[in-house]
Amino acid sequence: MKTIHTPRFDLLIASHFGMCFGVRQAIEATESLLARQPATVLGQLAHNPLVKSRLAEQGAHDGALESTAAPTQEVVITAHGASENDRQRWQQAGYRLTDTTCPLVRVAHTKLARLVREGCLPVIIGKEDHVEVRGLRGDFPEARVILDLRDIPKLPHTKKFGIISQTTQPIEHVRSLVGEVRRQRPDAEVVYADTVCQPTKDRQSALRDLCQKADLILAIGGKNSNNTAQLARTAQRLGRPAHHIESPSDIQENWLEGLSTIGLTAGTSTLDESLQAVVDHLTAWAADSVRLKQAVS
Ligand code: SF4
Repeated sequence: MKTIHTPRFDLLIASHFGMCFGVRQAIEATESLLARQPATVLGQLAHNPLVKSRLAEQGAHDGALESTAAPTQEVVITAHGASENDRQRWQQAGYRLTDTTCPLVRVAHTKLARLVREGCLPVIIGKEDHVEVRGLRGDFPEARVILDLRDIPKLPHTKKFGIISQTTQPIEHVRSLVGEVRRQRPDAEVVYADTVCQPTKDRQSALRDLCQKADLILAIGGKNSNNTAQLARTAQRLGRPAHHIESPSDIQENWLEGLSTIGLTAGTSTLDESLQAVVDHLTAWAADSVRLKQAVS
């Protein structure tokens, strides 16, 4: 954990934060494609408006995975992955695919396929409308999606459940839901395959360390970044005030009053410069507020 001293408070930077290798690789592959020809990104390459606008400047068009047409011959599958049906549909329609699916999302598809081969009713812990979950369900339409305790009674009765999760779910939440399925369905066999990715686990465990030391947590990432929202929610569950912010302009001054430490973390689609912008803003605010206090007294 890195500490940055300011005249008003210390900023503690989580030991793991920010953009993961999967999103970085997807951006690099897309930029290298765009250097040769225009392309259409089928969805959001990263849930980050800065990344989106930079790719647009380089010639990226917006497209939708569910659609059947794009303004360019080259189309890009994002790091969140897609179902085999969607890949084939685009290829059969004559488009050339650049597939930037994260290797750890592919692992989730492979593990789900294995559970289905073993005769399990597939269950995915995650958000029903998240693109990664849609990709998994596209391959296995029979899969049920659960997000919290309220969803467990809705599961059908069966002999064998095979559970995986969206790669960015907090691992404690996933383990607790799996335990609850076992408790509520004692007659069924419940097979669980861990598909939470290591970068998510690292960011969540670094956050727990941060929560022990910081008075307030700021989780930085695009408003639609699920894993940034999860970081803020985990901090709140751990008893720390926490806010999900996209940029320094989201910070309200009244949050900062009376604090001695502020913990900073960032989701897996957040650029390092977004965290640096928050550090610069808070450092400048701290210096200004001390100057103002001295001038008044
Ligand atoms: S969050 Fe995890 S699964 Fe998603 S792109 Fe990053 S490394 Fe891959």
